[in-house]
Amino acid sequence: MRQSSLVVVSNRLPVDDSVAPDGVCEWRRSPGGLVTALHPLLQHMPATWVGWAGGTGPAPTLADIDGVHMHTVPLSHEDVQDHYEGFANSTLWPLFHDAVEQPVYHRRWWEAYQRINQRFADAAAEAAEPGAVVWVQDYHLQLVPALLRAQRPDLRIGFFLHVPFPPPELFMQLPKRAELLLGMLGADLVGFQRAQAAHNFAQLAAKVLNVPATDDQISVDGREVHVGAFPVSIDMAEMEALARRPDVVARAQQLRHDLGNPQQVILSVDRMDYTKGIEQRLKAYSELIADGHVKVRDTVLVQVAVPTRERVGQYQILRERVEREVGRINGEFGRVGEPAIHYLTQHFDRAELAALYRVADVMAVTPLRDGMNLVAKEYVAARVDDDGILVLSEFAGAAAELSQAYLVNPHDLDGLKLTLIQALRAEPADGTNRMRAMRAHLRQHDIRAWARDYLTTLDQTGSVAARLT
Ligand code: UDP
Repeated sequence: MRQSSLVVVSNRLPVDDSVAPDGVCEWRRSPGGLVTALHPLLQHMPATWVGWAGGTGPAPTLADIDGVHMHTVPLSHEDVQDHYEGFANSTLWPLFHDAVEQPVYHRRWWEAYQRINQRFADAAAEAAEPGAVVWVQDYHLQLVPALLRAQRPDLRIGFFLHVPFPPPELFMQLPKRAELLLGMLGADLVGFQRAQAAHNFAQLAAKVLNVPATDDQISVDGREVHVGAFPVSIDMAEMEALARRPDVVARAQQLRHDLGNPQQVILSVDRMDYTKGIEQRLKAYSELIADGHVKVRDTVLVQVAVPTRERVGQYQILRERVEREVGRINGEFGRVGEPAIHYLTQHFDRAELAALYRVADVMAVTPLRDGMNLVAKEYVAARVDDDGILVLSEFAGAAAELSQAYLVNPHDLDGLKLTLIQALRAEPADGTNRMRAMRAHLRQHDIRAWARDYLTTLDQTGSVAARLT
C-alpha cells in the first residue's frame, strides 16, 4: 500500500468508468463541481485520492491516472441506495438546500451512512503516511474526520463542505444532529463556502453540544477546531485558454449558425436538480414570450439539464415536469425549425461547454440555493472579450463574490422576468465594465488560490501548502 503526505477523500473519484459499445471499459473524467475543482491541483503533487469509482460491480484496481494515485472504496448496490441515494441525497441534500424539497428520514439510511463513512475513514488511514494532511470533502462524509482521528491522531485533518450549511432552525430537524456535528469537529479545520455557513455551524455547536464556539474557532474535547469561509473556484487559466482555442471559437460560430443566427442567445447549464430553479426559469421565460417581451425569432434559450441521481424519486418527478413544460412552451410558441427552447440532456465535455459559454449573450444561473455554482464562474472565465451578461441568483454562493452580476431572487417571478429583460437590453459598455470586474476577481481567486488558502490554514507546518505555489 502506497502512503502519501496529502490524501484527498471524496465520495467520488475524479474518474468514471463507462463501457464502450465494443465492451471495453474506458475511464473518463466524471461531471460535477468538486471533480472539476480539485483535479487540476492534484496533478502537480504526489497525492492519493480516496473515493468510490461509481460502479457497484467488482471495483477495478486503479493505479495512477493523470499522475494521481487512486484508492478505490467499493460500494455495493445496497450501499449506494442507502448511503448515496438515501442519507446523502434524500436527507442531507434537501435539508442543506433550504428544504426546497422535503428531507426524508430513515433509520436504515443513517446506519448505512455510519458504515460507509467508517469504510472511507479506514481507507484514508491506510493511504496516509505518518503526520500526513488528509482533506475530507463534502456532505457524504461528514463523520469521516472524527472516525479518522480516532485511529490516526497523528494526522492533520481538514473538512470542506461544498454545499450550503443550513440555519439552525432547519438543521435542528435532523434526528442525528449531534453525531453529525461531532463528526465534522473531528477535523482541525472546518471550511465552508460562505461566512454565513460558518456562523450557522458555530451557533449549532454552541446550542447542540454546549461547547464554546465563535465563527472562527470551536473548543471540543480539549482541542481547538478552526472554522472559516473558503469560497471554491475554477481553473480560470484553463477555461480562458479553452475559450481562445481556434476549434472552440469555430465551434461557437457554428453553434450560433445552427441556432438560426438569433440576435441573442440565453444559456443555462445545470444538473437536473430541484435546487437549480429550472422550473421557475422556464415559467419566467414562457411568460416573457407570452407577454411579447421576447420574440422567438430573435432570442433563443439553450437549456442544458444533465440528468443526475436518476433513481431518486424527487429527481424523476422533476425531469417529467421539466420535460412537460419544455414541450408545452415549444408546442405553444415554437415554429417549424424555430423552437423557443433548445433543450439538451447530454453531458458535454469542457470544449463544448466553452463554445456554449462563448455563444451565450446572456447566461442565466438562477438556483434556489447553491453552495457555490461553478458554471457561473466558468462563464465569466470563458468571456475573454469582456462581454456577455451574467444573471445570477442571490442564493448561489457565487453571488457573494460576483456582485457585478445582474443579481436576482429566483423565487420572485416578476423580478426574474424583469432582470432577464434588463439583461437582454443591457448597454454593451455596462456589460463590459461588469464583466471586467468579475474577471479580475476570478483571476485573483482561482482554484489554486482556494486550495492554497485552505491548505495553508490547515497545514501549519507548511510542508504540503508550499508545494502548491
Ligand atoms: N458540467 C460539465 N458538462 C455539462 C454540464 C456541467 O462538465 O454538460 C460541469 C460544469 O462545467 C461545472 C460542473 O459540471 O464545472 C457543475 O458544477 P456546479 O458547481 O455548477 O454545480 P453542481 O453540479 O456541483 O451542483
